[in-house]
Amino acid sequence: MKFFETIREMGHEQIFFCHDKESDLRAIIAIHDTSLGPAMGATRLWPYASEDDALRDVLRLSRGMTYKAACANIPVGGGKAVIIANPENKTDGLLRTYGRFVDSLKGRFITGQDVNISPEDVRNIRRQTNYVVGGAEKAGGPVVTTALGVFLGIKAAVEFRLPQKKLNQLKIAVQGIGNVGKNLCKYLHEYGVIIFVSDLNREKTEEVKHLYGATVVDPKEIYSLDVDVFAPCALGGVLNSSTIPIIKAPIIAGAANNQLEDEQIHSKLLESKEILYCPDYVINAGGLINVYNEMIGSDEEKTFKQLNNIYDTLLEIFIRAKEQGITTHDAAKYLANERIIRAKNIVTS
Ligand code: NAD
Repeated sequence: MKFFETIREMGHEQIFFCHDKESDLRAIIAIHDTSLGPAMGATRLWPYASEDDALRDVLRLSRGMTYKAACANIPVGGGKAVIIANPENKTDGLLRTYGRFVDSLKGRFITGQDVNISPEDVRNIRRQTNYVVGGAEKAGGPVVTTALGVFLGIKAAVEFRLPQKKLNQLKIAVQGIGNVGKNLCKYLHEYGVIIFVSDLNREKTEEVKHLYGATVVDPKEIYSLDVDVFAPCALGGVLNSSTIPIIKAPIIAGAANNQLEDEQIHSKLLESKEILYCPDYVINAGGLINVYNEMIGSDEEKTFKQLNNIYDTLLEIFIRAKEQGITTHDAAKYLANERIIRAKNIVTS
């Protein structure tokens, strides 16, 4: 990777490479943009195949956080961290060492919980630093609010793209029944949606089959189901040149980060197929809204009220995209950039 060229193109401010000999911690903290406030972004622990993969992931995810905060009207900047490790090798010592690195940034980066980091892990990191949020599980914790935000996003997308349909007439396919996917299924079930699910872990799909009457399908089949909404809630890169041609759903609305393998090519491909894509960082902002409110000490009512920003912002993005003949991906990016530039102008004027 041409390092400085890449970060200049993507707009990053700072990247930290953290290593500890004793615990064998290998982590990367990326600070993308702090125009709106200190960089906020959760920590992901993943056994990346290569260091390049880890770097690519953290750069993209941290930039996504800048856009996410701006679209959600939350006054923080974008950051993200990845720990390169196998989940089985996650130890208290490793997390505490990582916490010390976070602390050394003195609040320029505030972190929380992402894939393979549990609320208990957050509490472990907090032993070394106050710059970590998300262990309090207020308003159900970031997982519940993320799922609720995705549910509100689905409502907005259905109203825009399928105005004749009511929620209880919908069929929705959820890919990935992890923390968010399972909670999303709960909301969908409450509103009478017919649910299809896939996960690599059979136990998880059997549980939602039992709890919410979901139909379990093979992970490869989930893309081509004849449903109204496809909700990617597993990992990134699932919207690509192999999957988009077989997707039948007119709406894509899910929690996973970095769903588009190539942002420009694949957002255009979705548009050409008249598939309404809910930009991932807009629809999955519930977790950020939750941890931000936890950080500033506001109550659950305020958190839930702010979640409605997701619904309103998505409708604004859909209308803009339609009026200007651009993809929803570009419409979201322009909206976020406008808000960031406005903040910069306020600071400099
Ligand atoms: P998780 O690890 O709990 O769940 C992910 C699930 O996806 C797992 O059950 C895994 O087995 C499954 N999976 C992986 N590959 C799959 C495949 N090819 N097909 C089907 N299933 C597959 O993670 P989570 O916390 O539920 O987060 C899900 C996604 O949402 C991630 O991309 C995450 O970054 C994003 N997200 C999460 C939050 C949050 O608050 N947890 C907030 C914003 C975005």
